[in-house]
Amino acid sequence: MAVNINGRLVAKDTCQALRPRIAALPRPPGIAVVRVGEDPASKVYVGRKTQRAERLGFHHKEIHLDVETSQVELEAVIDAVNADDLIDGILVQLPLPDHLDSTAILDRIAPEKDVDGFHPVNAGLLSQGRPRFVPCTPCGVMKLLERSGVSIEGKHAVVIGRSNIVGRPMAMLLEKANATVTLAHSRTRNLPDLLAQADIVVAAVGRPHFVKGEWVRKGSVVIDVGINRLDDGSLVGDVDTDAASKNAGWITPVPGGVGPMTIAMLMENTVRAAEFRTA
Ligand code: NAD
Repeated sequence: MAVNINGRLVAKDTCQALRPRIAALPRPPGIAVVRVGEDPASKVYVGRKTQRAERLGFHHKEIHLDVETSQVELEAVIDAVNADDLIDGILVQLPLPDHLDSTAILDRIAPEKDVDGFHPVNAGLLSQGRPRFVPCTPCGVMKLLERSGVSIEGKHAVVIGRSNIVGRPMAMLLEKANATVTLAHSRTRNLPDLLAQADIVVAAVGRPHFVKGEWVRKGSVVIDVGINRLDDGSLVGDVDTDAASKNAGWITPVPGGVGPMTIAMLMENTVRAAEFRTA
């Protein structure tokens, strides 16, 4: 049976380790979290992020805008938080309502306050192997691998999903840690054959139980990024965890695996932004 990788514990330790760094700052780190509309999942995620920021003693602003907010209005909000000296990190909760151009909004965030790591300047730095702000979810996965004592160098990692938020930066981080990386996506053929050669699998697809237990190689590390809500209200990942646990050496649960790490890394990125900005 696979060893369970406890994301809640690693996230808690990661946040605890930030406390002396926060205490050493001339003022509390500041974060602004922007949410537009009434997407229920976004409301839950933003609530968790601001709660964690509050517990760590951050200065925090939760900006909740009406679903009808226009592009120009949202851009003005971003400009205002860009100009606010007490704000070090800005997060725009995705997805935005369809009438808004998310890319233009994310591009408008000042790169030095882009604690989500989605701005093209930060994505470009990562792609050149000199990361500054790295998207929180893949950054959290790296920390989970590190804490589990799993070595990455020379291993074959298969990342399933190529979004700018998870899959693509994940592949870059694993490559930077000297893994040999295969980035699989919706047009990939013979995924089970690829997984049969994988030492590390990261699933970020957004389809419940997409990765079957029998695809998982004996002893491999399986990181499940997916968060999918089933009709009965329960949350499941992209991996058929029960079946995969029989083959995997290590596995992350959903919930309680990658999710808490995303929030912890957002806090860490904000502390780093505050360190840069107050130095
Ligand atoms: P996305 O929809 O942007 O990307 C999904 C990717 O899956 C695409 O690149 C697509 O090519 C790939 N894909 C789709 N069908 C496939 C197939 N049959 N075979 C191989 N690849 C296929 O999603 P995302 O934003 O990257 O999120 C992925 C999942 O991770 C979602 O469930 C999301 O909720 C979850 N997520 C979790 C966290 C967290 O904190 N744990 C953070 C972000 C996203």
